[in-house]
Amino acid sequence: MKTAVVVVDMINDFVSGTLKCESASKIIPNIQRLLNFVRKKKIPVIYTNDTHLPDIDEEFEIWPQHALVGTKGAEVIEELKPVKGDYIIQKRRYSAFFGTYLDLLLRELKVDTLVLVGLVTNVCIQNTAADAFFRGYRVIVPEDCVEAVNEEVQKAGIEYMKTIYGCKITNVDELMKKELVQE
Ligand code: ZN
Repeated sequence: MKTAVVVVDMINDFVSGTLKCESASKIIPNIQRLLNFVRKKKIPVIYTNDTHLPDIDEEFEIWPQHALVGTKGAEVIEELKPVKGDYIIQKRRYSAFFGTYLDLLLRELKVDTLVLVGLVTNVCIQNTAADAFFRGYRVIVPEDCVEAVNEEVQKAGIEYMKTIYGCKITNVDELMKKELVQE
């Protein structure tokens, strides 16, 4: 098993800006712990960040403008700033695979298992899990490292990923104790 951690949309606009997820702050310390742990073990960390073009983006027919390219809102939050050696990929759709080189990068890194963390559970996490599943990756979701706008959709997203894509649902402590020790 070769794992990578994919940090999805932990950017200012989703944590404190225009599309603020109220419960986002709950997962920050858990993701911090996980990133500290995996960086020591040289497990790759890949940030995939929503980055939209102003005005023309079709997503803005559904959501207010957010994560505009070149703005503070599209940057990773201060608490989880990438460090040297991390990978950063801009994405324009919910899935971190769509229209990006994530799949190519994962293949170059010989990764077969993804740990998905970040925002939001039933949108970008779930759509990224779908595309990972379609491409044959194993997906692990620590549920205390993902959040959604309310508990109902959080639960629904987790349940969907578990039953439809076969994602392993765990938590950050179990992940560090079990899944990531044999790396
Ligand atoms: Zn977006």
